[in-house]
Amino acid sequence: MSCIFCSIVENQIPADKVYEDEYVLAFKDVNPVALIHIVIIPKQCCQHFHNIEDNTLAHLFRAIKIIIQENNLEDRGYRIVNNNGQDGGQTVNHAHFHIIAGEQLGHNLAGH
Ligand code: AMP
Repeated sequence: MSCIFCSIVENQIPADKVYEDEYVLAFKDVNPVALIHIVIIPKQCCQHFHNIEDNTLAHLFRAIKIIIQENNLEDRGYRIVNNNGQDGGQTVNHAHFHIIAGEQLGHNLAGH
């Protein structure tokens, strides 16, 4: 069964897309935790960060850089987050990164 992010890739459910190339799709998080909250995914489904193919990983990080530049975040700063597995608090089992920005963020990295 297709996961929710695969459904976005396949245009079966809508998303507010902000970036797309052959390997990567990025869209606004439906439940933002800050003024800017963007989710970046590989188009090819892969559950965990450690299983993302190197070439795809390079495309993902390139897309993250482009999105940071397009949103003029270089000076103010931003946070890149990747939650993995049960202990990492991953809720959607399609590997993804978050760019969180647009306001002063807290320092709680542990998240509990
Ligand atoms: P994580 O907890 O790291 O697995 O993050 C999953 C993120 O996906 C959460 O921040 C959700 O708000 C977000 N999310 C879930 N469904 C959608 C959707 N249909 N469109 C946009 N973001 C979504």
